[in-house]
Amino acid sequence: MKKNILTIIVPCYNEQEVLPETVKELGEILQSLIDDHQISSESKILFVNDGSQDKTWQLISQYTDKYSYVAGAKFSRNYGHQNALLAGMTVAVDYSDMIITIDADLQDDVNAIPKMVAKYQEGYDVVYGVRNSRQTDTFFKRRTALAFYGLMKRLGVNMVPDSADYRLLSKRATKSLLAFKERNLFLRGMVPLVGYKSAKVYYDRKERFAGTSKYPLSKMLHFALDGITSFSIAPIHLIMYLGLITVVGSIVCMIYTLIEHAIGHVVSGWSSLMISIWLLGGIQLISISVIGEYVGKIFSEVKHRPRFTIETESYTKKMKK
Ligand code: UDP
Ligand code: MG
Repeated sequence: MKKNILTIIVPCYNEQEVLPETVKELGEILQSLIDDHQISSESKILFVNDGSQDKTWQLISQYTDKYSYVAGAKFSRNYGHQNALLAGMTVAVDYSDMIITIDADLQDDVNAIPKMVAKYQEGYDVVYGVRNSRQTDTFFKRRTALAFYGLMKRLGVNMVPDSADYRLLSKRATKSLLAFKERNLFLRGMVPLVGYKSAKVYYDRKERFAGTSKYPLSKMLHFALDGITSFSIAPIHLIMYLGLITVVGSIVCMIYTLIEHAIGHVVSGWSSLMISIWLLGGIQLISISVIGEYVGKIFSEVKHRPRFTIETESYTKKMKK
């Protein structure tokens, strides 16, 4: 059996209402996995407090004192859900053989955790939690989510549909993910880029156990926009197509205007104005897109993403002998 210290990472932002239940349910799952010898008894639950204004941190500190398997990390202010997840990984990676990230609100079924661990034991490095249905989401959230996944797919971003940030990562997958140095985090787009053998575990998404959503519409839109602009320069290509269409349009317009001019239907000055407006518009759009292409290149360069991840190699081991 593989080495198996598990750390469950839980980002928390003003979650005082749910935390007592979360620590209870996750604690039970962790304990039963330890009793079944599925994971090491050194396994932990790590709560990352993302600058909560309520009693979240006081609660976490209480649990840390009370339970040996609970630990906490506290941000100096609110840095956002994705940063909280990454911070948890940074803290835990050296001490864990696998990590699982899960929301604090118990919407994601904790019973999927043993299934994820089982997949890890089978040799998978990445195990995605995928929602069976979105019955508990509002109609609006369901439609927008569907549209978003469709759009991302068309933009060429490889994502696992209906999987959020509930997943297991092995130590090496976590390390590879941490090698991504970008600041605009969109983890569900980044994890597939890491590669390795992956599996899916299906679960039913429930209602939030208590408290309210910490993702209001504005934050959700911002997040979606981040996802698109961090992973795709397709919008820049769109400008180029627009420019090309306009130039073609200008040729049509030129022919039309010249005919009208020849017939003599026009007031003087109209023909030259028509032609130049269309032609200039098209040329400008194309020029913007050319600049955009370079900005796009700069954009992907400054992210300093790793160019590759080597899964195994035998060279260094041999050289060290
Ligand atoms: N969260 C966070 N920082 C934030 C917003 C949210 O750490 O700025 C955490 C929150 O505590 C929860 C998870 O991210 O554990 C998901 O948030 P929520 O359940 O409110 O989102 P929803 O399920 O409504 O999309
Ligand atoms: Mg939630």
